[in-house]
Formats: sequence, C-alpha cells, structure tokens
Amino acid sequence: MRKIAAGNWKMNGTAEDLDEIRKLIAAHPKPRCEMLICPPATLLSRLADVAAGSALMVGGQDCHPRLSGAHTGDISAQMLRDAGATHVILGHSERRQDHRETDAMIRAKLETALDQKLVAILCVGETLAEREAGKTLAVVGEQIRAGLQNLSYTIDSLIIAYEPVWAIGSGLTPTLEEIAEVHAFLRQTIRSGPLSSNGSGAGVALLYGGSVKPSNADAIFALPDVNGALVGGASLRASDFGAIVQSLSASCPDPTMP
Ligand code: PEP
Repeated sequence: MRKIAAGNWKMNGTAEDLDEIRKLIAAHPKPRCEMLICPPATLLSRLADVAAGSALMVGGQDCHPRLSGAHTGDISAQMLRDAGATHVILGHSERRQDHRETDAMIRAKLETALDQKLVAILCVGETLAEREAGKTLAVVGEQIRAGLQNLSYTIDSLIIAYEPVWAIGSGLTPTLEEIAEVHAFLRQTIRSGPLSSNGSGAGVALLYGGSVKPSNADAIFALPDVNGALVGGASLRASDFGAIVQSLSASCPDPTMP
C-alpha cells in the first residue's frame, strides 16, 4: 500500500516561500513515502521547477470540469499538467463551502482530472453538526458514492482524504477511535458495493486530514487503513511538514530489507 504525505498550501505562499521547498527537498531526498505539495496556482510551475528531479511531487488545489473556455478565474486539468502538476485535490470542504460545490460538480471535475491523467485526491468529511447528529458515516458514504459514481479509476489514479470539516485548521481532531472507524468504513465502502465493479477499491490510499501536526502524526499513522495525511497549516514550514514525512516514512517498510 502506498503512503502519501500531501500538503495543501491553500491561499498561502509567494516566491519567497519556495525556500521552504528547497529545505524540504534537501532534508528528505529519499523519503520512503510519497511526498506532495499543492501550492496556489500562481506558484505551481515555479515550485515544479524547484522540485524537478527530486522526490517531491506537485499538485493543484482544484480544476474546472472543462478543459478550456470562457470560465474567468478557473484553471483546467490540462493547465495543471502543463504547469507540472501530477495530482489535484478535489472536493475540499473549503471549496464545497466557499464555492458551493456539489457532489455532482465534484464528480465532473474528477472525471476530467482522471481523463487528463492527474491523480485525484477526493476530500470527504462531515460538519460538526453532522457528527453530533450521528450522521458521519452516512455523509462520507454519500460523498464517496456520488463523487465516484460510474467513474473509472485505479489504485494509482485515486486517493481519498477523510477531512472532518470541524477539524480543519481548528487544532481539534477526532479521537483515534473515531478516525479508525471512518477509515474502516471508507475501506469497506470503496472495496464493496457499486464501486467494486472495477475491482480497484481495496488498494486506494486513504488519507486523514484535519489539524495533523508533528506531535499527533505518529499516533494517526499507526491506525489501520490510514495511508497518510492531507496537511494544511503544518505543510507551510519545511520543519513541520518534514517531521510529518519522517513520521509516515517510519511506518513504511525499509526497501533495502529483503
Ligand atoms: C486541509 O486544509 O486540508 C487541512 C487538513 O488543514 P489543516 O491541516 O490546517 O487542518
């Protein structure tokens, strides 16, 4: 199972922050896990240039369902690829909230991203009100079902990130038991039911996201069915993100061992 430490810089970062990327690459030339940073679109190609030849991969934070056209301010999957991205985050809760993205819109974006050979990171997660009402599994189950309906993907082209909305940027996290419960449910959902038709669910990487930091990473990465993290705030500094990469790498098998 692949393991991935993915950073989401959101609307943060200018050219001077590329130094953090240089530090990250220098400190982690050969991590055992995959390492990805999704900067704002304005930094994508410069970050891709800095990362060229290193283990660091680069991704976008969203893409439009169409490849080109009259959509002021939007970015297509083709443009992300052209700028050096290999991955794209889709359905982040901030896009669902700020831009009123629906599951149907996210599904359309996923289809385009996969067509354009980008690895899609589909974000799902419940609000605090939904958790308190006992609806967490129903909510994430529906987001997965509707987001992936009739899509053709492989274990290499899809990643799912469980991100409770109330844990993002708040310093709060679910308990380890709660994270494990949702990840077991996601694994089961993706392995069985309508999604089993293309037979590729079992190996899809499942990331946890929401206030992951160096101090809680080890415990989260020790959970079954947690294959990495999507990290916001703590991905902005090489020292913090590097510590999270280190933590995840420590949970991966040593490739030099027989
Ligand atoms: C995110 O935005 O995907 C995220 C998980 O943010 P943070 O790590 O800051 O909670």
